[in-house]
Amino acid sequence: MRLRKNSKIWACAVVCLVIAQAVASVLFAKSYRLTAITGWIEFALMVSASLAFARNAFSSSRQQRLVWALMGVGYAIEACSQIVWIHWQLVVKQAPAMSLGDAGIYLAWTALILAFALRPHAELTTQHQRLGTLDLLLLLLWGLYLYLFLVIPWQYLAPELQSYGPAYKYLALAQDMILLSIVLHGWLRSSGRWRHFYVLLTVIVAVDTVMEYFVDTLSGVDLYFSGSWCNSLAVAGLAGMTYAALMVDGLEPVSEHGDPVSERYWRWASRLAAPTTLFLPVLAAWSFLDHSLPASVWKFRVLLSLGAIVVFGFVGIVKQARLERELAHANDELLDASLTDLLTGVRNRRFFANSIQAEVQQVLRSFAANAAPDLHNRDLVFYLIDIDHFKRVNDQFGHKIGDQVLVEVARRINSAARLSDAVVRWGGEEFLLLSRCTNREEAHIVAKRVLDVVGTRPHRVEGSGEEMRITCSIGWAVFPWMETDPKLVPYDQVVTLADYALYQAKGSGRNRAVGLLPEGKTVRGGTVAPAIFINGIPSSPVTTLGPQIGEISAPSSSTPAKTAAASATS
Ligand code: GH3
Ligand code: MG
Ligand code: MG
Repeated sequence: MRLRKNSKIWACAVVCLVIAQAVASVLFAKSYRLTAITGWIEFALMVSASLAFARNAFSSSRQQRLVWALMGVGYAIEACSQIVWIHWQLVVKQAPAMSLGDAGIYLAWTALILAFALRPHAELTTQHQRLGTLDLLLLLLWGLYLYLFLVIPWQYLAPELQSYGPAYKYLALAQDMILLSIVLHGWLRSSGRWRHFYVLLTVIVAVDTVMEYFVDTLSGVDLYFSGSWCNSLAVAGLAGMTYAALMVDGLEPVSEHGDPVSERYWRWASRLAAPTTLFLPVLAAWSFLDHSLPASVWKFRVLLSLGAIVVFGFVGIVKQARLERELAHANDELLDASLTDLLTGVRNRRFFANSIQAEVQQVLRSFAANAAPDLHNRDLVFYLIDIDHFKRVNDQFGHKIGDQVLVEVARRINSAARLSDAVVRWGGEEFLLLSRCTNREEAHIVAKRVLDVVGTRPHRVEGSGEEMRITCSIGWAVFPWMETDPKLVPYDQVVTLADYALYQAKGSGRNRAVGLLPEGKTVRGGTVAPAIFINGIPSSPVTTLGPQIGEISAPSSSTPAKTAAASATS
C-alpha cells in the first residue's frame, strides 16, 4: 500500500514504537519500568491514531469529515483514559478495580462504532443523511443509556464489584461484536483501497476482542501484566489504527445510490432504532419493582429512564418531522414525474386533463361582467404544433435521432413560450402550446415565433456531422370563442377547431400556422380570410408563414444529403 511521503515517516515512527515495546518485553521482566514504557507507548499510539484521523477530517468532504472527526475524538478520549490509567499505575502505584478510565474507554468505543456505522467508504444519499444519521444517533444514545443504567450505579451509587465487573465486561463485549460486524460488513461491501482499510480494521478489532478475553482470564492468574506479550498485540493494533488512517487519507467515498444492500443496511438501522424508546419504561418499571436493589440504585435508574424517554422522544419527533418532509418531497417529485413526458421533459396529457378545467373556469371568471382587471389579456390560446414530415427523419436517420429531434423541438418550443404558458406533448410528434392570459389579436405573433424558433436553425445529426432542417405546422384557436358569449363553444370544441386549422396548415404547404377566429375578427399584422364554416361555426382563418429557408429538399430514404430537410418550404 502506497502512502504519501510524510505519511511514510509517520508510519515508520509508529512501527518503531511497536518494536520498542517488543524489545522492552524481551529485555525487562515484569517491573515498574516495563509498565511505564508500555503505558507511555500506548498513550503515544492513541494520540497518533487520534491525530491521523483528525488530519483526515481536515482534508475530506463534509460528510466524511464527521466520520473522521468521530474517530479522532474516540482515540482522544481513549488517550485521556490512558492518562488516568498511567496516574494509577505509576503515581498511586495501585490500579483501582473500578476506574473512571473504564467509562472513558466505553465512550471512546461508542464514538468509533458511530463513526464506522456511518460507513466512511460510502457516499450518503440526502435521505440517509437526514434520516439514517438520526437512527444511528438513537442507537448511540441507547448504548450510553445502557452504560449509565447497568454500570454506573455499581461504580458510584452503591459500589459493588460483583455487579460492576460482569455488567462492564458484557457491555464491552457487545461493543466489540457490534464494531466487528460493522467493519466486516465494510470489508464485504467495499473494494480497492477501501477494502484494504476494512480488512486491516477487521483484523485489529478481532485481535483486540480475543485479547480482551485473554486479558480477563490471564489477569486472574497473574499471567497478564503491562508489557507482557499480550500487550504487544494491543500495541500493534493501536499502531495499525494510525496506519489505517494514513491509508485512506484523501480517499473519496464511493456512490452507492440505489444499491439494494446499502438500502437494507439503513433499513436495519431504522428497525433497530425504532423500538429502543419502548424498552425505557419497561426497564424503569423493572428497576422500581426489583426490591433487592438499593434505594439509590432504583431511584437513579427510574430517573435516568424518564430522562431518556424525554431525550429519545425528542429525537423521535425530529425524525418524524424529517420523515414527513421527505415524504412530501417524494410525493412532489412523483406527482411532477407523473405529469411530465419522459422523453422530452415537457408536460404530458395527464397534466392537461388535470389542469384544463381550472384554466377554463379562470378564463370564464375573467369574462364575467367587469371581473377582469386587465381586459386585454384574458384569452386562452390552444396551439397544436406538428412536426413536418417527421416520418422521413425516422426513416432516414433512425428512431434514436428521431427521438433527439423531438427533444430538441420540445426545447425550442419551450424557449418560445412564456413562463405562464404550458407545453404539452400531445401525441407522437405533436405538441400543444397552451398560452394563458393572452390576447387573440396577437395570437399569430406567438405562432410566428414558434415557427421561427423551430425552423430557422438547422438540427445537427449527432455522430455524423450532418445537419437537417426541421419545420412544423401549427393550428390554433382561441377560448372563449365568442367574447360576448364565452360559454357558447366549450373548450374541447376549440381544440377541435385548432386541430382543423392544423389540418389546413398541412394541406396548404406546411411550415406555416393557421389560426381560427370568429367571423369578422381582424388582427394586427395578419391576413384574415373570408369566413368558412367549421362544424357549423363561422370562422375566419389567419395564416402566418414560417421562415423562408431557401432551396431545401425533404430527406429521402436514399443518400443522406449534407443538409437534409425534413420539410418542404412554402
Ligand atoms: P406530416 O405531419 O408533415 O404530415 O408528416 P409526418 O411524417 O410527420 O406524419 P405523421 O404525423 O403521420 O407521422 C408521425 C411519425 O412520428 C410516425 C411515428 O413513427 C413518429 N413518431 C411518433 N412518436 C415518436 C417518438 O416518440 N419517437 C420517434 N422517433 N418517432 C415517433
Ligand atoms: Mg407530422
Ligand atoms: Mg403527427
